[in-house]
Amino acid sequence: MNKGRLLFASSEVYPFVKTGGLADVSHSLPRALNETYHVCVVLPLYGAIDRKGFKIKKIESFEVVMGGVSYDIQLYATRYEEIEYRFVYSPLLCDREFIYGPPEAGYEDNGLRFGLFSYAIAEMLRREQYPIVHLNDWQCALVTLLVKEDPSITTKTLYTIHNLAYQGSFNPSVLSQIGIDERYYTMEALEFYNQVNFMKAGIAFADSITTVSPTYAKEILTSEFGCGLEGFLSVHKRKLHGILNGIDSEHFSPVNDKALVECYSNAKGKKASKIDLLKALGLKGATKPLFVFIGRFAHQKGIDLLVETLPKIAELECNIALLGEGDESYSDSLSAISEQYGNIVLTSGYDEALSHRMYAAGDFLLMPSLFEPCGLNQMIAYAYGAVPVVSHVGGLVDTVKKYESFDEQSPSGFGLIFSTPTSRSLLSAVKKSCELYSDKKFFESIVNHNMKCDYSWSESAKEYIKIYKRLIK
Ligand code: ADP
Repeated sequence: MNKGRLLFASSEVYPFVKTGGLADVSHSLPRALNETYHVCVVLPLYGAIDRKGFKIKKIESFEVVMGGVSYDIQLYATRYEEIEYRFVYSPLLCDREFIYGPPEAGYEDNGLRFGLFSYAIAEMLRREQYPIVHLNDWQCALVTLLVKEDPSITTKTLYTIHNLAYQGSFNPSVLSQIGIDERYYTMEALEFYNQVNFMKAGIAFADSITTVSPTYAKEILTSEFGCGLEGFLSVHKRKLHGILNGIDSEHFSPVNDKALVECYSNAKGKKASKIDLLKALGLKGATKPLFVFIGRFAHQKGIDLLVETLPKIAELECNIALLGEGDESYSDSLSAISEQYGNIVLTSGYDEALSHRMYAAGDFLLMPSLFEPCGLNQMIAYAYGAVPVVSHVGGLVDTVKKYESFDEQSPSGFGLIFSTPTSRSLLSAVKKSCELYSDKKFFESIVNHNMKCDYSWSESAKEYIKIYKRLIK
């Protein structure tokens, strides 16, 4: 079969650069599509990317003119795990300490930086004639408008919303800097509460839109989860689809994970990882349930609930390990709590290997998110046999079934669900988890079942392929 070509654009891609789930998806979805398409993934060549280690080489340079200013763009390339990668380099976009900015706030000129990234992608489409470009989040959203504006580009655009809470809103002065005509500064296009909103460009001008779970696709049409864009999304809802994210089942597999002290394939096999992690963190009591939290310290992830509830959880017979980084006030509160309680340990920072060890060691994964477009942690937790304890929102609704209704024949994973985002409900779910843990046989059968569930891309990639095919019909 003659494979079609597909350009996949993202502001972060594992293993080159990662701040969260977008990087995982931008690595694993192209891999899942690779049998059907020649996928080329494009991302910025940030300073932190290891050019030598990944054998990244310069292939060409070109000029783009944005807002009357000419920028020199250097294009780099490498091949990694069967996928072609292109890296856009320009000092304005790439020479920074952080990708988006320090934890407190994004860089002020992010509109200009990712505007330039979008112009570079549009230029790639002009030069190489890809039939489809798959654009991810606000950082690439402007490409949809640049494509509409230029009749010489025949590429169809698919825009994926990974998290509606991050929209890329900037002072209107950015319009002239990114060379976008004033006539697009309207409610029907980029204007949003007197700001220029990049996410709106993606919604308005993409040929098709997806978001990362069926439930989130419905939620974002409501005022509770729509972040002010629910009305605008409703106007465009005919082109909106919810497709559940998957995980890379090779990368997230305890059967051959080099980060683990001992690989395993069932509930019993987790013991060595648990003992190893407890020792490393200075925690005692391998027979007590171990709860882990891995994620960004952000409002979205329910950190307020955690901060309020942890002192009560600490009084139960259990251990708690936390890993993450983000808002300083949350880090400070969590750090104060962990200093106070001997059975809570906080590791601050981003540590891929430690996260794998924690999924492997954990009996339960805490995920009290206030909203969750899809969430990958709960699916990774299944693979490693940590039972998720989750709130009932977004992709968590689509991926976690109540353990009370456990059914070995079900293709779904099971966990503990609390439906109201209150400290009381979280505490009650944790208490139930401890009870479940003490019913060893039942607990192990749930863990073993979850570990066998398929949360890879195999089904969801087919849904993306259907959309691509429809776009170029
Ligand atoms: P997000 O909203 O942050 O994108 P997701 O659940 O979609 O959340 O994906 C989070 C991904 O980032 C998972 O692979 C998770 O294991 C990883 N992760 C989050 N925080 C950390 C951290 N501090 N160290 C290592 N991995 C992390």
